[in-house]
Amino acid sequence: MSQWVVAKFGGTSMATIESMSQCADVVISKQANIVLVSATSGTTNQLVELADVASRGDMHKANLILEAIEERHTQMLLETKPGARAMEKLRTYVRELKTVAKGCALLKECSPKAYDALMSQGELLSSTIFTSLLKSKTDKDVYWFDSRNVIATDNQHGKARPQLDQIKSNCQSIFQDAGVLYVGQGFIGQGPNGITTTLGRGGSDYSAALVAEGIGADILQIWTDVPGMATTDPRICPDAQSIDELSVKEASEMATFGAKILHPSSLAPAIRQDIPVFVGSTFEPEKAGTTITDDVSAHPLIRAVTLRNNQTLIITSNPDMLSASGFLKRIFTVFDNYEISIDAITTSEISVAVTIDQSEFPTGEKAEQFITELEALGQVKIEKNMSLIAIVGNNLHQTPGVGGQIFNSLENINVRMITHGASSHNFCIIVDEAQAKQAVKQLHENLI
Ligand code: ASP
Ligand code: MG
Repeated sequence: MSQWVVAKFGGTSMATIESMSQCADVVISKQANIVLVSATSGTTNQLVELADVASRGDMHKANLILEAIEERHTQMLLETKPGARAMEKLRTYVRELKTVAKGCALLKECSPKAYDALMSQGELLSSTIFTSLLKSKTDKDVYWFDSRNVIATDNQHGKARPQLDQIKSNCQSIFQDAGVLYVGQGFIGQGPNGITTTLGRGGSDYSAALVAEGIGADILQIWTDVPGMATTDPRICPDAQSIDELSVKEASEMATFGAKILHPSSLAPAIRQDIPVFVGSTFEPEKAGTTITDDVSAHPLIRAVTLRNNQTLIITSNPDMLSASGFLKRIFTVFDNYEISIDAITTSEISVAVTIDQSEFPTGEKAEQFITELEALGQVKIEKNMSLIAIVGNNLHQTPGVGGQIFNSLENINVRMITHGASSHNFCIIVDEAQAKQAVKQLHENLI
């Protein structure tokens, strides 16, 4: 049986030819044979800005961004001493980018389809450069592939959902020879009518996990700019320790509740197929990194403390709720109508409090409609700028004294809300954003 090693490199790894060169060394030394890359660092943000200025008809600003993107990527590709085909490919993508941007500027509108067409160019450009560079560094055959022919999705632009059966059959037909190197793009896919889609910001990890699942990979490697996952964010606590081995459950909770290294849903395909996921640094590939697998030796009570900022607390209260049934259903239906994903929930006699990511909150007219619909069910109070802190571990709900330890660590911190009990792997608290870092420091110092 052939070994399939799927490797994904993030934007900071793709930043320059020097860093790309380090990625190429990692591909070779870690024997990856399917490689997915992000756009060069900063490019997706530039494309978001491009979509914005173009939709306002500001072709002057749009041109400045287009020139910067063209210049940077052309220079990078030239440094790889590319063949004529790679140069032509780059020109084609730049041309497409300009055409779509101009179309948006003329119409003063960037439709979801146009938006994805713009966004996808970042990964198409970086993968073209990386392929050319890899070819110069290995004797193996290197094939560039278009991930749109692999990642089949629905047509929900900007946050497309993968079509797993189709992806699986695409993987089987495209990746036939484990002895060669395939290089494609993270983040991008193709809807049922052949139109480009994207999986959402940071979606490259997800793409890689989908490909790993589709081909039944032996391992999925996520190469980033930090050597694996840590007991908390090292920028907040310099004494955070890196974690060699994490269970899938622990890692999922950490990702969901704020560990930014992994895209929260990126693990799901690996979980389904029991594929171990390795997270390591492109720049320090020999450091241990973190392996996520269900085959871990230790199950510590407390593994990590994670922080997620930009949370909004929404409280709906109505005295009629007392002993009534169906109330939660009506409240959640409103959230469902606006496709808002809820993170934490608590209820009291007559109130329901939920937290959502600020980015989930509807904008413009929809925001007013959403609030009006909720207000039809009770009095609504919205508190922004909250933080969700999760204490992630094992058996938290069956260990006496955990709550005490946690609250003893929170001296001088105003805990706004708590959720605990639904999972044995987390204990969540909501605090004001202004106190969040201090709370994480105190928790990390006392618990880990
Ligand atoms: N380039 C995309 C982004 O910046 C996808 C990714 O890098 O994961 O969001
Ligand atoms: Mg990322």
